[in-house]
Amino acid sequence: MKLIYRVLTCPATRILRIPTLAHGTLSGHREHMVRQLNYHEMREVFTRFQEASPAPEGELEHTNAFTLLVAVALSAQATDLGVNKATRALFAIADTPQKMLALGEEGLIQHIKTIGLYRNKAKNVIRLSQILVDDYGGEVPNSRAALQSLPGVGRKTANVVLNMWWHLPAQAVDTHIFRVGNRTGIAPGRDVDAVERAVEDNTPADFQTHAHHWLILHGRYTCVARKPRCSLCLIRDICLSEDKTP
Ligand code: SF4
Repeated sequence: MKLIYRVLTCPATRILRIPTLAHGTLSGHREHMVRQLNYHEMREVFTRFQEASPAPEGELEHTNAFTLLVAVALSAQATDLGVNKATRALFAIADTPQKMLALGEEGLIQHIKTIGLYRNKAKNVIRLSQILVDDYGGEVPNSRAALQSLPGVGRKTANVVLNMWWHLPAQAVDTHIFRVGNRTGIAPGRDVDAVERAVEDNTPADFQTHAHHWLILHGRYTCVARKPRCSLCLIRDICLSEDKTP
């Protein structure tokens, strides 16, 4: 049956997308989900991603763990491009928690007011900077629990920081990875937690560190939301989507 996808962000359930029938009736039946790709298919998918891009990198500009943490926190419901435009000047003068506190909330707002939800984000960045100074000696802690205890830092932000700065195989699931995982069979799951587990459980160990960036870049540039570029896709013959474009 042909499906369309509706993107939802419910803070309570963390469900990003529910499969809906083509005429728009909410369904969410499990039988519509594609199967999980098997081990050999997963190895082949990531082997191809690796050959095409041996060292994939995230696109959020940063100079240290603190600026990465702030950039990721600012990127919620914003584009990396928009965040980079704002943070270039910001990080030139405030690349540590101490300097961020010296800049202050109003000063920070002047730099980030082009980014959505900037008032709330500014409040959180100032509060987390204070906690880093008070409780962590001005350093960014590198456990998921400690990161998630900071204001405005959820599991996804923590996983991005753990993956990008400490190169841990932490799998942050954003809207791109959620879509790609479900469409292709790389990591099917009904909510972000299920997709995160599917990536962790099914990605061969030697591909775990870069899996996050390969999947995000694949979703951002090839397997895009509305009209995926299937004719250019490296994994077209393995992908299980029933809605490939010619
Ligand atoms: S074949 Fe199309 S739907 Fe499948 S992964 Fe590639 S771009 Fe996405």
